[in-house]
Amino acid sequence: MARPTEAIIDRQALRDNLAIAQSLATQGKSMPMVKANAYGHGAIEVSKALADVAPAFGVACIEEALALRDAGIKQPILLLEGTFSSNEVSIAAANNFWLMVENDKQKDALLGSSLKQPINIWLGVDTGMHRLGYNSNTITKQYRDLSGSSNVADNIVLASHLACADDIGSQSTRKQIDRFQQCLSTLNNSSSHNIDWSLANSAAVMAWPESHGSWQRPGYMIYGNSPFSEPQQQAAKLTPAMTFQSAVISIREIDSGESVGYTANWTAKRRSTIATITVGYGDGYPRQAPSGTPVLINGHRCPLVGRVSMDMITIDVTDLPSVSIGDQAILWGPSLSVTEIATLCNTIGYELMTQLSQRVPRRYIN
Ligand SMILES: *Cc1c(COP(=O)(O)O)cnc(C)c1O
Repeated sequence: MARPTEAIIDRQALRDNLAIAQSLATQGKSMPMVKANAYGHGAIEVSKALADVAPAFGVACIEEALALRDAGIKQPILLLEGTFSSNEVSIAAANNFWLMVENDKQKDALLGSSLKQPINIWLGVDTGMHRLGYNSNTITKQYRDLSGSSNVADNIVLASHLACADDIGSQSTRKQIDRFQQCLSTLNNSSSHNIDWSLANSAAVMAWPESHGSWQRPGYMIYGNSPFSEPQQQAAKLTPAMTFQSAVISIREIDSGESVGYTANWTAKRRSTIATITVGYGDGYPRQAPSGTPVLINGHRCPLVGRVSMDMITIDVTDLPSVSIGDQAILWGPSLSVTEIATLCNTIGYELMTQLSQRVPRRYIN
């Protein structure tokens, strides 16, 4: 019998969630983001599960893209940050990786390469997030430089990223969309055709229809979780793809006044039944999780008590009618939102999922 800690990944949920993204922005295509090991879900398995329905995939770097190619993924793969060094350009061309170009170093490396086949380029414009992208005042020049090169395929995509799309009704998102549209119309006016464009992440796919372009870039929603802090109509339709679960490995009764775990920071106020679960921060369960964080024991919400250890946590199961060694413990999943756990830990579900460690086997169903 193996350690019972595992992450079950529901492939059908991934496909259903992508279908929701596609149905919300039918005039364009939705490219699932599978960076950071598909937000902890396993990039190769997730990409395979979506290979029949995804037009392309998005990753953070060429190492992630090459791993997908090695696994037999045939779709174009967009490198969201483009290249970091000039030797990546020819590798990208040979593998049908699409490149974000967002600074002169990247542009010069691209234009200075001798390539056998041209590369699909996404031209990154900074519309207000101020992390990546060309200043919008220079975009006509960047577009001209790129479209004049035989290394660049036709159909350059104008792209930008929204900083606050999860804040429904945000003024800064409105401003970013306006700036982007201005930039786009300037380019369209000086071009013989309408230029393809991409602006929307998950939150924008669901809440900002005016940001829907030729390409959407949903990530978090593909994994079935809501980026919003309030209930949202579209997000309510998503199915979380991951169930992070473990099991009870030991049970004890302690007297009132006895403490549990490292630093003895939780003390029983009554005679209590404590169940120990074999999962800890070594698996990516957050050490910041405070006493009171819910865990589902046999489907019932029970409070975590005491500190999260590397390999174990302790749960107050006094109020359950019965508990046995081997009983199921769900840390997060469709019936316990990762967002709820993340909020208690002062972080976001994105971080919890990407920090699920290698020790946790991923098991794929459906
Ligand atoms: C990660 C990322 C996305 C996806 O964001 P989600 O909030 O997960 O949908 C989209 N665009 C870019 C540029 C990204 O880096």
